[in-house]
Amino acid sequence: MNNSTDFAEINEIIDLDQKLLRSKKYFKKGDILSSFAKSIRCKEVTYLTIQLFENEHISLRPEYLQYINHSCNPNSFFDVDSLNLIAIKDIKIGEELTFFYPSTEWEMVQPFDCFCKSENCLGRIEGASKIKIDILKKYQLSSFIARKAGFCPCGSNDLFSNCCQPKIEGKQKANTAEELMRSRYSAYAISAIDYLIETTYKTLRIDQSYKEIEQWSKENRWQKLEVLKSFENSVEFKAYFLDDSKKQQIHHEKSTFTFENGSWFYSSGEFM
Ligand SMILES: [Zn+2]
Ligand SMILES: [Zn+2]
Repeated sequence: MNNSTDFAEINEIIDLDQKLLRSKKYFKKGDILSSFAKSIRCKEVTYLTIQLFENEHISLRPEYLQYINHSCNPNSFFDVDSLNLIAIKDIKIGEELTFFYPSTEWEMVQPFDCFCKSENCLGRIEGASKIKIDILKKYQLSSFIARKAGFCPCGSNDLFSNCCQPKIEGKQKANTAEELMRSRYSAYAISAIDYLIETTYKTLRIDQSYKEIEQWSKENRWQKLEVLKSFENSVEFKAYFLDDSKKQQIHHEKSTFTFENGSWFYSSGEFM
């Protein structure tokens, strides 16, 4: 059986009773191959569902996306935050589309032995929880999996304990405006309200209420941070989050920072 979608062809491997998708187009690294819907939430977790959060799993729509098989050397990534299937390498016409199952799955209900034949094949695939951090580091992961594995919410690809945590706990100072910005994003993600107040410049701090910051921090689910431009005193960024009704929101801001008495402070923000 050969079936077609707008970007890929569905092939059947009859001997294995398995299907796969082959690209019909040339994609460059970073291109969006397709978007997908998350309207269907599943109570039951299967090898076809994709994990969004602790107890949230979705089936893929369009359904043929489920034929994208696992590889330890994948060429695509299901970005569950933006709901796009993204090329993480250049993809040639006719090439099989693959993704790394543990990039979205913490513990898989049906572990399997991988025969992807790539040099770095991990063998048994059981979910991200069973993979060493040094190996996980090499893969693009969903923000949920990255957090669960101990990576910093700020997206630095470093462990939280080596990145923003020492700053939030007052053991280390932010050396640059960007470092402070990143640590403040992480503080929102873990609801470290005191740190957010302490790192706000004194003139702005007067207008801030602990309760309001706490509410804003807790009612949203912080997905990821994208630093767009970084200068000595300012940082432009996008913070992706789900609001209290689980709607995707993007907070786009240019923040300005002030250096005083050896510390950086957030002094103003311009919403873009
Ligand atoms: Zn493999
Ligand atoms: Zn960080």
